Amino acid sequence: MRHPTGRDEVIERYSRIFPKAARVTYAPLVMTRAENARVWDIEGREYIDFLSDAAVQNVGHNNPRVVRAIKEQADRLIHFTFIYGFPIEPLLLAEKLADIAPMDDVKISLGMTGSDANDGAIKFARAYTGRRTILSYLRSYYGSTYGAMSVTGLDFEVRSKVGQLSDIHFIPYPNCYRCPFGKEPKSCKMECISYLKEKFEGEVHSKGVALLLAEPVQGDAGMVVPPEGYFKKLKRVLDEHGILLAVDEVQSGLGRTGKWFAIEHFGIEPDMITIAKPLGGGLPISAIIGRSEIMESLPPLGHTFTLSGNPVASRAALAVIEEIEERDLLKRAEKLGDYTKKHLEKMKEEHELIGDVRGLGLMLGIDLVKDRETNERAYEEARKIVWRAYELGLVLAFLQGNVLRIQPPLTIEEELLDEGLDRLEQAIGDVENGKVPDEVLSKVQGW
Ligand code: PMP
Repeated sequence: MRHPTGRDEVIERYSRIFPKAARVTYAPLVMTRAENARVWDIEGREYIDFLSDAAVQNVGHNNPRVVRAIKEQADRLIHFTFIYGFPIEPLLLAEKLADIAPMDDVKISLGMTGSDANDGAIKFARAYTGRRTILSYLRSYYGSTYGAMSVTGLDFEVRSKVGQLSDIHFIPYPNCYRCPFGKEPKSCKMECISYLKEKFEGEVHSKGVALLLAEPVQGDAGMVVPPEGYFKKLKRVLDEHGILLAVDEVQSGLGRTGKWFAIEHFGIEPDMITIAKPLGGGLPISAIIGRSEIMESLPPLGHTFTLSGNPVASRAALAVIEEIEERDLLKRAEKLGDYTKKHLEKMKEEHELIGDVRGLGLMLGIDLVKDRETNERAYEEARKIVWRAYELGLVLAFLQGNVLRIQPPLTIEEELLDEGLDRLEQAIGDVENGKVPDEVLSKVQGW
């Protein structure tokens, strides 16, 4: 084993050993150290992380409480399988998740990653209802395992190559900036709801539908927030037809939007919630929180993994939840989110490239457009901005090719947030002023 010494060597060795299926890169970030919202690369350069490491580090990178919990637990018991034994840590975690869940009488299934949690939601829903069909959304992202990939509504080449689960139907997500029905908020009659009703009159037999899987705020679609009243109307239609609702809070959960779960903004109770990303503070752990009777619908070993409920990851997750509670990070996410959104809206007045600023709490997106009349997506500009931000020491990414993803840790220091916003504005201005050459386009992959 030869330890690499420089950035270029790492990147070159990556391309030799990892298949491209595992990765999508925006910049040559070879990170070796991190603290809260700051990360350092192999050359000692410091960056502000506006991504929270893909919405993982809600309580900040290497949060001291999380680090302490991991070290203590690793010294005592790294693993004894939860399938055969009764380790205490996953028990404490599951009870805590039940406490913070916005539903009563729940049971918890533990896994390792968002994808497996979403697979589980599909399995529990099918087993409980005895129905097969799953409804999902266009442009949704649920993960990479077979089930999660099958319900993902992004046009992934992979599905055409490998096939998918059957009985999946996609419906448009309510996107008021890019309405799939061509409506403006003024002319909207919630066509997204009538579309679903019509689907039940023709294409899909509603009595065969087990589940609708929804992101309460569509993350990888570009931080799309549904309009007021959408989820209430949707839930009424689903209840009429005996269809379960699972919400994927893998990206939006655990304080990101200013509530434990983003669905709490919309005044309805889901039947299941899936969480992962920030749960373990960087260690792999996921959970399905579901109504008890649904969660009892599978036989023994129907949905479990040897490493489910790993004690170290469970302790880390308990520390993440404690940190959110003790530092009142739900309020902080709301406050910093409002502040950041206002700041971005002010930027929009100065920069024609910014077509829309949206989001909830610290789950924000900047939709970049070539033309504010047509809302044509500004793909090349997004790539140049992300590259320029990297040069300026700001970690940033885009989604759907043109929506900048703004998701700093909920614990980011206020001065650092301001500094990050300044760097972001400089990057946008530099691209608008033609200071970023076309050569950088070949360096930024993104998706
Ligand atoms: N659901 C959502 C909403 C996500 O954003 C992601 C990851 N981007 C996933 C599921 C998949 O999670 P994982 O990569 O942990 O399997």
